[in-house]
Amino acid sequence: MEKLALNKGTYEARTAKSRDMFQRAKKVEAAGVSYRNRYFEPYPFFVKESNGSTLTDIDGNTYTDYWCTHLAMILGHRHPAVLEAIKAQAEKGWHHGVAHELEVTHSEAIQRHVPTAELVRYASSGTEANLFAIRLARTFTKRPKIAKFEGGWHGPYDALHIANKPPFDMPPSGGLTKGSQQDTIVVPYNDLDGFMKRVAGEQLACVLLEPVLLAGGNIPADKEFLQGLRDYCDRTGALLMYDEVVTGFRLGLSGAQGRFGVKPDVTVLGKIIGGGLPIGAVCGREDIMERMDHTKYSGADYAYHGGTFSANALSLAAGLAAINVLEHVPVYEHIDRLGEMARSGLNQIFENASFPAQTTGIGSLFAIHFTNKKPLKDITGYASYDRARSKEMFRHMLEHGVLILLPEIMHGGISYAHTENDIEHLILTAEEYVKVNS
Ligand code: PMP
Repeated sequence: MEKLALNKGTYEARTAKSRDMFQRAKKVEAAGVSYRNRYFEPYPFFVKESNGSTLTDIDGNTYTDYWCTHLAMILGHRHPAVLEAIKAQAEKGWHHGVAHELEVTHSEAIQRHVPTAELVRYASSGTEANLFAIRLARTFTKRPKIAKFEGGWHGPYDALHIANKPPFDMPPSGGLTKGSQQDTIVVPYNDLDGFMKRVAGEQLACVLLEPVLLAGGNIPADKEFLQGLRDYCDRTGALLMYDEVVTGFRLGLSGAQGRFGVKPDVTVLGKIIGGGLPIGAVCGREDIMERMDHTKYSGADYAYHGGTFSANALSLAAGLAAINVLEHVPVYEHIDRLGEMARSGLNQIFENASFPAQTTGIGSLFAIHFTNKKPLKDITGYASYDRARSKEMFRHMLEHGVLILLPEIMHGGISYAHTENDIEHLILTAEEYVKVNS
């Protein structure tokens, strides 16, 4: 494979400019980065430009990018249709601050595809959209308690920033007050009996889950589990809410709810619907969503929503262009095929060498886990993962021009710009690591 020899020398030897930049960065940003996920050892490379499936750093090295802008860039970097839309919109104004047509057209696109999206409202990030979704559920049901799953990641909003990885009883951050989390009930993923036990006697406003546990290891929910939650919500009046910030428009135009066939009441979207620019959205049943309508409701019956950058014109223009491509080009066929190729190719290598690792994922998503525990139905085995190996393999991949964040559980997303050649390179590079380290 020609790409195996692409970046010459060790990471440190060929990233002198990034190393210097990191020294500068540390003087102005905590840890030298703007998001902990973007830090890795010995120091992150700094990107000069991104294109298609690759990132090029300031030293001129190229990496095949399986991080894909936190999985937002489903068409690859700088897709021409999205680029054109951004340029054209910038000429007309990038954020008008009052109502405009793009928010109608973009909502219509969401309505067209997301089975339960009767009404839509925009935010600037997935975190923010989850915050508004929780507020909406509490307003609609007049109940404070919410259920959130072990290993689930919904962004760092206080009520949801709990138990995202083991140990679940350790706060993942300072500054989280008991008050902000006392109404959050942490429940086990893919375990309906365990869920029922923990919520026994509770009156829930909502059950919020990722239909594929993303940061928790790319682990899809079992269909029966989703159906069990649906039945529970129907019985008790709690709202079933899917966080489809990653799976929305990635597992197909109708996201995980289309793929798994179990519908939520409310859906949270982000990432792909902004074409790679900042966005979040809440959508769902009209009778629920209309609680955000201040012309109909007030006081405790009204769920406040808004924000300076909500329905940002550039994000909506980029998102619409991306959705338009997804509607007309066989993107899902391509990325799902490559996803299957990556997962099965990597699993084969691990199995052949009796190497204690395995992949998870669905469609164009994959993760690599350094454990023998099977099947992986949740993140609870995480405490026993071999972190040292994981970091070592992450480093090996980096040396060979493959970027798969995060070093602790390597997560990959495949874009339309990735090729079979890229996946072959990924598998061969992994094979080389396994051979040397078995
Ligand atoms: N929900 C899920 C499932 C996510 O993966 C993320 C981010 N990775 C978020 C919400 C938060 O989105 P954002 O980073 O845009 O705030």
